[in-house]
Amino acid sequence: MATHSQPFDYAARCQRVRESLRAAGIDALLVGPSSDLFYLIGLNRPQSERLTHFILPAAADESPRLILPSFETALAEPLAHFFDLVPWEETESPFELFAASLPAARTGQPLRLAVADQIYAHFLYRLQAAAPDAEFLPGGNLLNPVRMVKEAQELEYLTQAGAAADRTYMALLELPLLGMSEAEVKQQLMALLPQHGHDPGAPAGAIVGVGENGASPHHHVGPRRIQAGDAVVVDFGSGVNGYWSDMTRSFHFGPPSDEYRRVYDIVNETNQVAFEAVRPGVTAESIDAVARAHIIAAGYEEGILHRTGHGLGFDLHEAPYIVQGDTTVLQEGMVFSIEPGIYLKGRFGVRIEDIVTVTADGARRFNLSTHDLQVL
Ligand code: ZN
Ligand code: ZN
Ligand code: ZN
Repeated sequence: MATHSQPFDYAARCQRVRESLRAAGIDALLVGPSSDLFYLIGLNRPQSERLTHFILPAAADESPRLILPSFETALAEPLAHFFDLVPWEETESPFELFAASLPAARTGQPLRLAVADQIYAHFLYRLQAAAPDAEFLPGGNLLNPVRMVKEAQELEYLTQAGAAADRTYMALLELPLLGMSEAEVKQQLMALLPQHGHDPGAPAGAIVGVGENGASPHHHVGPRRIQAGDAVVVDFGSGVNGYWSDMTRSFHFGPPSDEYRRVYDIVNETNQVAFEAVRPGVTAESIDAVARAHIIAAGYEEGILHRTGHGLGFDLHEAPYIVQGDTTVLQEGMVFSIEPGIYLKGRFGVRIEDIVTVTADGARRFNLSTHDLQVL
């Protein structure tokens, strides 16, 4: 029973995770401050040196518990309608409280505790010391399958984020970019992101690679200025209600060379063939294979430097990963990037990135900005 002020039914999310815990024979999931905690109970806290820890028991008759510093209980009280608060005082050991808050072990078996992916190592060591008889296991594989399939409201926020990225890109192209440095273009992008529908104060990021710097996919902006004849790669994103946008476009100042046009066309086609391969029932890695095969057939295998995409939601990069080895079977409601690129060291790079969601019979893009080569 979510309260009306909250957009999500956190209790239902926890319920889905508890079902997968029971199916896997796990007694409880342990979650520290992270996007996982935000997802499960709506509490958005940074990791700190003070222990905040959520225990989600598998058994339906055990209440979930949140261990937290007692002076922070006011932050969690509005959310705590389906879990108990276990506050600790500054002079107390939260690890003893943790041990006392664990569900009972089933007779004759060690307690099996799954640990979510994002937790400081020093906490895990001390949690393990506090529960020496328990077995600690990785828990991402239990939580991620639930997080990967987005709810209608999440898809709505991601749609809004995609539209905000489109408007940001259109506004960027209106600016007098010729002569600007990469750092200045990034500064402009960081100002445009909140002006065009992203939340003010949301985390934001931008990569701007001019000319030869575009051949480094995660280039850090520097003093390189845009001159006539330069290819440019811009990759940027920010948040709407906690959900990320992430979009890349590549464009050119002055007439491009034949090879730039050829590479641009290959990347553009690769984006399209990968998009058309998306549907429920195929694997994440099969989309990567389609994209790679297209670039390899065009003769640019050495220009491939990274996977085809990554899931996106509360985190900019989250499961599933569109890469060889990720055998996640795509389901309706999953969301990820398709961002093939070709990078020619010392010369230029081209990447085109859209966020897509899996639909009942294919895929839908959240970014609708044109893929046609823009010559400025
Ligand atoms: Zn990246
Ligand atoms: Zn990106
Ligand atoms: Zn991306």
